[in-house]
Amino acid sequence: MMYWQEEIETLPTPKLHELQLKRLLKSVQRAAMSPYYKKVFAENNLSVDSIKSLEDLRKFPMTTKEDMRNNYPYGLLTCSTDDIVRMHCTSGTTGNPVAVLYNRHDLDSWVNLVARSMFSVGTRNTDIFQNSSGYGLFTGGLGFQYGAEKVGCMTIPAGAGNSRRQIKLMRDFGTTTMHAVPSYLGRLRAVFDDLGLTPQKDTKLKRLFIGAEPHSEETRKRIEEMYGCPAYNSFGMTEMNGPGVAFECKEEKGMHMWEDCYLMEIVNPQTLEPVPDGEMGELVLTTLDREALPLIRYRTRDLTRIIPGPCACGRTSRRIDRFQGRSDDMFIMKGCNVFPIQIERVLMRLPELGSDYLITLGRDNGADYMLIQAELKTDAFTDNYTKLNALCKRIAADIRDEIQVTPKVELVDKGSLPKSDGKAVRVKEMRHL
Ligand code: ADP
Ligand code: ZN
Repeated sequence: MMYWQEEIETLPTPKLHELQLKRLLKSVQRAAMSPYYKKVFAENNLSVDSIKSLEDLRKFPMTTKEDMRNNYPYGLLTCSTDDIVRMHCTSGTTGNPVAVLYNRHDLDSWVNLVARSMFSVGTRNTDIFQNSSGYGLFTGGLGFQYGAEKVGCMTIPAGAGNSRRQIKLMRDFGTTTMHAVPSYLGRLRAVFDDLGLTPQKDTKLKRLFIGAEPHSEETRKRIEEMYGCPAYNSFGMTEMNGPGVAFECKEEKGMHMWEDCYLMEIVNPQTLEPVPDGEMGELVLTTLDREALPLIRYRTRDLTRIIPGPCACGRTSRRIDRFQGRSDDMFIMKGCNVFPIQIERVLMRLPELGSDYLITLGRDNGADYMLIQAELKTDAFTDNYTKLNALCKRIAADIRDEIQVTPKVELVDKGSLPKSDGKAVRVKEMRHL
């Protein structure tokens, strides 16, 4: 058996659209029960009657992170808190966090999507699943926990960090499947090296799920080599429940958006008009199976594109490409728009470099500069200055080719850059100081 829910996963497109329309009407009707959408719909003369086809959704205004923050904590809720059984929220380092509330139905629906995602790449009840996400308010912990339990995996809630214990658990209990942020896997592999172990020989690892932060195809390939198994891209965001929104299948050619539960639009972030299939734009999502806190046309800020054409796995839900980043990750250096992922792609092509790097944007005597610190692999020629110099020059030239800005480059020892337990911080902005 290949599918978790064969009928839904292989639903012919016209039937999928029928289901989406039916669910969209329910979502809009439900949304109108929240103080926030009641007001927005009234101001724009909109109601469920405004929708006769899926395209009619475009009459509705988009919802932003700001809207969620301004209406924190209960402004988007459609029911009494008596019916709510869980909440999660994003980090919210500045101002109000973005909170999501779930009733029983919402939790069941979410858990099912995580289970479907895990199952689609071969995870079964015979697997032992270790989750290195942080538990707590962050959705990656409990989200994967309940999804894995639903599949029937023995589930190890290891939590974030503590690499030696992570490795001990993996070896003692025979972990076959693991979820981690990509930037952590490079560091975990270094601890394997310190212990004189390799994941290939000393663990039973069969597959990895990587997500929560942008990473390039080059980084995925490196991770697959470091661990000797496939690493599947997993997309989730708190506003859309958490993990299990889109997930790669075994083909590793983009992430299937679970379109029975999310209505997807890709729009030009400036004009907000739809872009043709295959073109990059901002992902906008409408929840189709959420009761307590439906979101209508939510701007994710994530930049991606629809991969045209069917997938060999037989699933009919469309695929999105790996993210170029968030529109708010982009920085401007000497008039050029730069995404950190463009720099990562260049660095990860060089075999002498490890997987960690940091981009610092600074100002010196009124002139902006960009400093890239990249870690060297342990066995790279650390005392041969001619070679190190040549490598720095090569990096600077490759990056200039990619982004039209020449950076300063510094090579640093493996493991010497600042670490984070959750998502990696890749850009340090010092120009405002
Ligand atoms: P926060 O907004 O605090 O980072 P979330 O954990 O909800 O909280 O993060 C969701 C965001 O993480 C997404 O909008 C996206 O930018 C990023 N993200 C999640 N999964 C991936 C992935 N597979 N590839 C790239 N970016 C991802
Ligand atoms: Zn597929």
